[in-house]
Amino acid sequence: MKNLLVTGGAGFIGANFVHYWIKNYPQDTVIVLDALTYAGNLANLDLVKDHPNYKFYQGDICDTALVETLLREHRIDTLVHFAAESHVDRSISGPDAFIQTNIIGTYSLLKAAKRVWLDEGINRDTHRLHHVSTDEVYGTLEADDPAFSESTPYAPNSPYSASKAASDHLVRAYHHTYGLEVTTSNCSNNYGPFHFPEKLIPLVITNILRDLSLPIYGDGQQIRDWLYVEDHASGIDKVIRQGNIGECYNIGGINEWANIDIVKLVCKLMNEQFAKQSSLAAQYPLAKSAIAGNSEKLISFVEDRAGHDRRYAIDPTKSNKELGYQPHESFETGIQKTIEWYLDNPVWWQELLKGN
Ligand code: NAD
Repeated sequence: MKNLLVTGGAGFIGANFVHYWIKNYPQDTVIVLDALTYAGNLANLDLVKDHPNYKFYQGDICDTALVETLLREHRIDTLVHFAAESHVDRSISGPDAFIQTNIIGTYSLLKAAKRVWLDEGINRDTHRLHHVSTDEVYGTLEADDPAFSESTPYAPNSPYSASKAASDHLVRAYHHTYGLEVTTSNCSNNYGPFHFPEKLIPLVITNILRDLSLPIYGDGQQIRDWLYVEDHASGIDKVIRQGNIGECYNIGGINEWANIDIVKLVCKLMNEQFAKQSSLAAQYPLAKSAIAGNSEKLISFVEDRAGHDRRYAIDPTKSNKELGYQPHESFETGIQKTIEWYLDNPVWWQELLKGN
């Protein structure tokens, strides 16, 4: 049995991870620490709120004393670190919060973990800090470059990816210098339920439902590698249980798509949903283009993001071979599930979009 502290558990991936963990390991204790920034939402954890082994704390990972108290009081042996500022556009317009949470916040967690696990000796021989990172730390690829492997040199290009790269280095250093037992995973773009509607896939779905334009940066040919969020959670589970201390694992499903093709696919699937289910037109009367079967007419090309990386792609050979990791969802099933989730949960996303 494990006692987990999950930072950022009220965010998109953190909440999906908490659901995954409680479903698969109901006897474990899961403590969530989240500051509830604009991206954090307690409603994301409604499904588990009455579980006897779950507890939520609102607080900042930069508060080292609070983290130490949680580690001691709950005899935490596994710290899974999701908390971050995560939206690249926001890191361009306001990098301060990214430096604070992603770098200083990770440093604060490492200090607390070292103090409690190594200096005080609580769970000295059974602890693990798992750090959740991104493929964006590797920079950008040309069309015919091989995908990112764990030995690809770091070359972050945005304040977001630079702050994540810095946090990865601090995690590595705490292992090499002090012997803290850490693992890191670098994952490709996630999609699925509870994804904040500022990100591409939920933005497209919720804009279609409100008949708003679908803004595409530049020529839309930027390539991303997409993974269903629950498959990220199961990858982290594999790394925590089977990964070697001090190592990094790339998690991905070999699923590269140009942004414009993703948007066109979502338009097509939304048109099909509206054609198939007549009740949707009554439920979403604003979705005039989807009702008429031509959502793609909402696509609008806008000025490209500054420094926009062209292509990301993950080589998951190491996690496939060493951990036996394989994603469960195909893109076809994952994107369909995601669209259905947004159609079935209008209150969730409409609350977040109030005023927008
Ligand atoms: P998110 O923005 O949806 O959620 C982040 C969560 O962290 C929110 O609940 C927020 O309230 C919380 N948080 C922010 N600052 C905090 C602080 N100082 N103290 C405590 N909590 C704080 O992000 P996400 O998309 O769920 O990403 C989670 C992690 O996974 C991040 O570390 C991100 O870098 C990484 N990642 C994301 C993706 C992706 O596609 N979204 C891909 C690879 C890796």
